[in-house]
Amino acid sequence: MTTTDPTAHRPGRLEGAVALITGAARGQGEAEARLFAAEGARVVLADVLDADGEAVAADIGDQARYVHLDVSKEDDWAAAVAATEDAFGPLSVLVNNAAILRFTTIADTTLEEYLQVIMVNQVGTFLGMRAAIDPMTRAGGGSIVNISSIDGIGSKNSLVAYSSSKGAIRSMTKTAALELGQHRIRVNSVHPGGVFTPMNGDISKDTFDAAHAQLALQRSAMPDEIAAMVLFLASDEASYCTGAEFVVDGGWLAGDINPFLPGAPPAPSRR
Ligand code: NAD
Repeated sequence: MTTTDPTAHRPGRLEGAVALITGAARGQGEAEARLFAAEGARVVLADVLDADGEAVAADIGDQARYVHLDVSKEDDWAAAVAATEDAFGPLSVLVNNAAILRFTTIADTTLEEYLQVIMVNQVGTFLGMRAAIDPMTRAGGGSIVNISSIDGIGSKNSLVAYSSSKGAIRSMTKTAALELGQHRIRVNSVHPGGVFTPMNGDISKDTFDAAHAQLALQRSAMPDEIAAMVLFLASDEASYCTGAEFVVDGGWLAGDINPFLPGAPPAPSRR
């Protein structure tokens, strides 16, 4: 008879992986860094919020490092990828998560404001993917996860720059998948709905949930709920997924609950 030793080490879902996550000082990037480390990856957290990023990396422990990386700067990418390799070996997972959000109508958006968002969200993702090709090829393959948004599929008023950048991420993910499959590099995009993070400003969870009451799940998401999808795509469990869009939106794109028709729930439930 065989018995299982409950104290025996069980490999994590990212055992052996070397991951770089941008925008990891807080919000979803932080949740992804913590989850990846818990699943056995060695993780480099990158951000422009140095004090916050250093603190999260220190809290995770020896498996984690922090690097300053402004994703819109080409030179920063070269340094961050080199620092990752120095610390842990060639990169095998990249999460292009860093982004900024601005609400202005087309009429009120200056060229400078528009380009600021494009430089971080869109150009940052392009530079990240490009920087990952060589180390991932040397690592024998890898996974790139690009964080887009439901606003990369649809949009809203006042989101011209953000939506443009997220739509571009959706498209360039497919280009990259077609070019990089030959190197065993998978590239996918994730499309979150409303996630309770500092990106949405100084707002309570209840108020933010109330703004999502018409959704099938009647609430906003917590960062760990997006991180779970990113983990799946980063891991070998997603070995046949590439060039695809993974929506994590509580039913946002499915449509709204109509409270005047049968089947509508009486009141929002809370997670
Ligand atoms: P957040 O604002 O909490 O985190 C974004 C992180 O990116 C911050 O730590 C910030 O410092 C960093 N960052 C900003 N500019 C940077 C730059 N130039 N270089 C490096 N880092 C930079 O927001 P979040 O909700 O955690 O967002 C994570 C991702 O999810 C983003 O791509 C965002 O567009 C996307 N998203 C968020 C929501 C939402 O409702 N929160 C919905 C859909 C998609």
